[in-house]
Amino acid sequence: MISKRVYKLGKAFVLFDRDGTLIEHVHHLTDPGLVKFKPDLQTSFQLLGKAGYRFGIITNQSVVGRGLATETVINKINARISDFLMSFEIVFDFVYVCPHLPSAGCDCRKPAISLGLKAVAEHQLDPSQSFMIGDQESDMLFGRNLGCSTIQVKGNAQKSLFADYYSDTLENAAKWILTKKE
Ligand SMILES: [Zn+2]
Repeated sequence: MISKRVYKLGKAFVLFDRDGTLIEHVHHLTDPGLVKFKPDLQTSFQLLGKAGYRFGIITNQSVVGRGLATETVINKINARISDFLMSFEIVFDFVYVCPHLPSAGCDCRKPAISLGLKAVAEHQLDPSQSFMIGDQESDMLFGRNLGCSTIQVKGNAQKSLFADYYSDTLENAAKWILTKKE
């Protein structure tokens, strides 16, 4: 019997920006004590986790390049998010950080996509099945250039022309993704 099922080798991910998306925006956040989770963080991940998505964070942290924080401090801030969600059995496959200054011209600061390509290579992320959620134009461009669907959550940035969907909350972003699942 011939199976009609099409085997996809790659995995469906939801990629997240960090500041202004998973946690409230704080200018040049360098203190883990100032991390404030978005109110619908847990619900959003539970919805997506049940649907089988895997998770990754891709974040620009020029505070490192500016000398305002060490990578250790950045990792502590990131761990506040992953530890909180782990208490609900939600796990991130990766957290990738660009520590460089915008002026450094690196290839890992969003909207450049090298950290996305790293996820493709190391975690079998399939862009065609995956989504990027963020609040900034650079997140939308990153997702577009990687080949993901893009969702902009409302924040302090203007609506992006590169967003496939504009959402007032993280939870509504998650719900929109569920409507797109094959
Ligand atoms: Zn970089």
